[in-house]
Amino acid sequence: MGWLEVSGLSVGYGPVRALREVSLSVPAGAVVAVLGGNGAGKTTLLRAVSRTLGFHRGTATGTITFDGRPTDGLSPSRTVAAGVVQVPEGRQVFARMTVADNLRAGALLAKRADAARALARVHELFPVLADRARQRAGLLSGGEQQMLAMGRALMAGPRLLLLDEPSLGLAPLMAARIADTVREINAQGTSVLLVEQNAALALELASRAYVMEVGEVTLSGPADELAASDEVRRRYLGVVDETAAADAGRAQEAARTLGRWAP
Ligand code: ATP
Repeated sequence: MGWLEVSGLSVGYGPVRALREVSLSVPAGAVVAVLGGNGAGKTTLLRAVSRTLGFHRGTATGTITFDGRPTDGLSPSRTVAAGVVQVPEGRQVFARMTVADNLRAGALLAKRADAARALARVHELFPVLADRARQRAGLLSGGEQQMLAMGRALMAGPRLLLLDEPSLGLAPLMAARIADTVREINAQGTSVLLVEQNAALALELASRAYVMEVGEVTLSGPADELAASDEVRRRYLGVVDETAAADAGRAQEAARTLGRWAP
């Protein structure tokens, strides 16, 4: 039994079936990754766990338990209070508010002393957020906005952080910095469920991973085993199958030769 246990989860948005019988678990203290292309249902899975499907007119069947308790019936804010906090895809910082106010907004449910402690932790993880405290969030770079979105989530003192595509649209160096921070956040005791299209980065961070395709889990296992599997290497890590590449090379060569001799 995992600490977060999703079992037989199906989600629809009206007539659109977004998830079919998805089951996965996150052990306490782990980083678990969910890989998959556009529309695979990764964001939907996180919404179900954070109980925010209702904002998107989604409905779910199946069960989700966190720390031994079923979460159905919990409102989104009670889910946050229970320790499950989502960092949305595309950052979604409050662009016209200052960096400091964005962070404060993450701690609305927290006691004052807890918020002060959380702010110190966030500033230590992301010193740039202290330097830019009085600036409008909209002026930050993409990477800094990702840091702010993560910092805002950390202000709520999560036990499980749900991260939706943190590396999306970031230069490789910035993506690597974000990955380092995820590692550090995890080392400080926060578990992470990470959704990523960047499979290489996700498999490096996670101990276990699930691959999703059109709403279903098609593969799962320890991250190092998945990273070594042909299927994952070819489809998600961009590793070219050497035999196929050699065949394609020979075919091209033959076509060139034929072209040369064509009348
Ligand atoms: P992406 O990386 O592109 O966000 P994803 O794997 O996160 O992809 P989801 O966003 O969960 O996938 O989408 C899964 C399916 O559900 C897609 O077919 C999508 O079009 C559909 N979908 C998502 N949100 C809604 C919504 N609010 N209303 C209707 N359909 C939706």
